[in-house]
Amino acid sequence: LMGYVGFANLPNQVHRKSIRKGFQFTVMVVGESGLGKSTLINTLFNTTLYSPKEALPPHAERPQTVSIQSISADIEENGVRLRLTVVDTPGFGDFVNNDDSWKPIVEDIESRFDAYLEQESRVNRQKIVDNRVHACLYFIQPTGHSLKQIDIEFMRRLHQKVNLIPIIAKADTLTDEEITEFKQRILADIAHHKINIFQAPVYENEDEETMAEHEEIVSKIPFAVVGSNSEVKTPDGRIVRGRAYPWGLIEVDNEDHCDFVKLRQMLVRTYMEELREHTNTYLYEQWRSEKLLSMGI
Ligand code: GDP
Ligand code: MG
Repeated sequence: LMGYVGFANLPNQVHRKSIRKGFQFTVMVVGESGLGKSTLINTLFNTTLYSPKEALPPHAERPQTVSIQSISADIEENGVRLRLTVVDTPGFGDFVNNDDSWKPIVEDIESRFDAYLEQESRVNRQKIVDNRVHACLYFIQPTGHSLKQIDIEFMRRLHQKVNLIPIIAKADTLTDEEITEFKQRILADIAHHKINIFQAPVYENEDEETMAEHEEIVSKIPFAVVGSNSEVKTPDGRIVRGRAYPWGLIEVDNEDHCDFVKLRQMLVRTYMEELREHTNTYLYEQWRSEKLLSMGI
């Protein structure tokens, strides 16, 4: 199903009603330059939110801090309108000293909480715009070893403020065995450092098929993904999104090749509401009570 994102299939009928009016979803992407963030976003939402950027001339002045860039697009599917915002964080991890790389990102997330709180405090609360970050895709370099200090530091600083979804970038550069082992080590590191990544719930009261689908998604975390916006022809003549190599072809949308499909299912279908909900009732609420406490309210 190329060209199809899937958010119009959000399962819960109760939500469908409010969703028909249009809804907002904000994804942040974080990770070192060149890990395929822009490519993956384009692949996920099947739009060119990002055009290939021109390389800076060698003498051009490079920014010295992480910058925060936000791009929005309205996409519509089966009559369901989604206001999608992608928050990019170019510069993260790119400097000689990256000790404070997480800071501007925390500040951005908190200023979005602030803006929401400000709207909630107004007399007229009819048209609240929700620009809070609902999910943060954290791109892990495909080293095959374990998490790096910068990964751990970022996740530790952010995990109480945003739904963290770890991703192994450019998974086509690792073998299946390497991916399996890398995933185990990443999860062990995350547990060791008591980092809370987004816990996708599997509900007991769902039908078996739904539960199996949920379990399947959860079992893939951290998702090993491959992004590509070019179409290639398979030996059997299909046109697919993928990356061609002398030794073969990696298909983005083929679940035997990578976890891209599962990541997309999680983000835009199975858990989109859950991500919004958890942001609102837990992450934001926690931030809000701390903020009000610190103001003596
Ligand atoms: P960003 O700096 O993180 O936004 O990375 P880009 O999306 O600009 O991609 C950097 C380079 O990596 C480009 O040449 C992409 O074509 C390539 N790339 C993106 N995704 C993948 C992937 O999944 N696998 C491989 N091998 N290369 C990728
Ligand atoms: Mg980019």
